[in-house]
Amino acid sequence: MGRPATATINLDALRHNYRITQQLSGSGQVMAVVKADAYSHGATACATALADVARGFAVACIEEALELRAAGIKQPILLLEGFFEPSELAMIDRYRLDTVIHHQYQIDALVAEPLDHPVRIWLKMDSGMGRVGFAPDTYRAAWEQLCALSCVKDIVLMSHFACADEADSEHAQQQLATFNAYTQGLPGERSFCNSAGLLALKDARGDWNRPGLLLYGVSPFTEAHGFESKIQPVMELSSAIISIKDIPAGSSVGYGSQWTAESPTRIGVVAIGYADGYPRHAVNGTPISINGYRVPLVGRVSMDMLTVDLTEIPNVQIGDRAILWGKDLSVAEVAGFANTIPYQLLCNLNRVPVEYHKNSVAVMETAEYISA
Ligand SMILES: *Cc1c(COP(=O)(O)O)cnc(C)c1O
Repeated sequence: MGRPATATINLDALRHNYRITQQLSGSGQVMAVVKADAYSHGATACATALADVARGFAVACIEEALELRAAGIKQPILLLEGFFEPSELAMIDRYRLDTVIHHQYQIDALVAEPLDHPVRIWLKMDSGMGRVGFAPDTYRAAWEQLCALSCVKDIVLMSHFACADEADSEHAQQQLATFNAYTQGLPGERSFCNSAGLLALKDARGDWNRPGLLLYGVSPFTEAHGFESKIQPVMELSSAIISIKDIPAGSSVGYGSQWTAESPTRIGVVAIGYADGYPRHAVNGTPISINGYRVPLVGRVSMDMLTVDLTEIPNVQIGDRAILWGKDLSVAEVAGFANTIPYQLLCNLNRVPVEYHKNSVAVMETAEYISA
């Protein structure tokens, strides 16, 4: 097997979390967000594992959508940013994709090149995120232009929260009020919620909800929220200890000699580093789980290795597993020690082999999924 760094993906946990999002959605439907290779969990594997329950999948671009179609996914697939060039319209037509429309140039392209098959459009309003979407006062005119096109089957009214992950977000309430005011009287399904919105903003739950992070068993909130015990982390990132040594007080460890032992210390080296996606900016003291104990990271994270202080825990051996994040150590907690968010840590995963578990047994590895 060689290098011990591994990401283990628990597809049973993914299905469990999906059911939670479906319960939170009530009579609404869940579009599982699997962009960015399902936040590095493997889009094909995750979509396949959810294929009998999920009502649809959302991705960031046509390449990601085609990967799912090639894997046999039959559900609606939504392009969250729509198309970037008119040339993509032929593919949207051929592979029966749903597309966001967030800008007039996309409407113009559709007018110039109508599709052969009916398409569902998700018309995006910028209700306060300040990124993509029609301004509220231009939204209705955009809706009317699309309505006039014979290839447009349905128009889902859609927007996206900027601050749903903050407790009692007034900004989110304001966005919802704007969206409701400017869509009043328009027919069609509605979609507003990402994971944080789905959890925190009951009034915003719509006909379609679009959770991503929550499906992977990670909280979108920085503060504890109470529901965390209901979800299960899908990814465990682990490696093994490849060296143990005792150093005297005054010895330093790692690049820049940035950490120095104050007393005699037992240092363990774990075979994982920033080339694998472990954050280089994780500070001294970032927890790493070994044999059920939490030990502190010491010294700078290197490209392929990192160092931990084993002094306080008994009987550690070379080859013992080190868990960087997973069940007892949330990726959200680690992100806090690296001044970033769990989304980025997951998406940055790189180089490590991925192993899938289903019904609690290992099923197949990434490479086999790709060739299957
Ligand atoms: C990524 C994305 C989501 C999912 O966000 P999470 O915070 O991971 O739930 C939902 N909607 C849109 C438009 C997105 O781009």
